[in-house]
Amino acid sequence: MILNLVNKFRCPSYNSVGKMSQKVTQRRGLLYHITFSCTCSFETSFTNSIQLVHSATAPMDELNMMACVAANVAGIKRTSMTTILGMLNILPPVQIENWQKYQKIYSNALDAVKDESLGGAAEEAAEQSSETADREGVTNIKVLIDGT
Ligand SMILES: [Zn+2]
Repeated sequence: MILNLVNKFRCPSYNSVGKMSQKVTQRRGLLYHITFSCTCSFETSFTNSIQLVHSATAPMDELNMMACVAANVAGIKRTSMTTILGMLNILPPVQIENWQKYQKIYSNALDAVKDESLGGAAEEAAEQSSETADREGVTNIKVLIDGT
């Protein structure tokens, strides 16, 4: 599919059209690095995802992270994501060990957002409450949970 598009453009080296071939030179889950080679030996390549920089892990890819986030948002596990990707004729996501690394980063980010959100809610509740609240971490706010 992409090769069809690439072969609509002129080769910058010899100005010919339709002489490119493609080769997947790297694949990590949903990430592909594809090299296009012309019969004149000109080569160019592209990658379908950017790399994420995370200090605690080996290089990770945005597209693989988004697949993990999508699975979480949809409430499915890697196995179901693999099935969906398979139905779309797309190869599986990253290996289970790497999926778990993505999952851990996602979970940690979710926890950070949750804690920040709860902290903001507590501050807001303390401001609007007629009762006194301790301003040190707001630990004495009454909470009513109705099960919804
Ligand atoms: Zn060429």
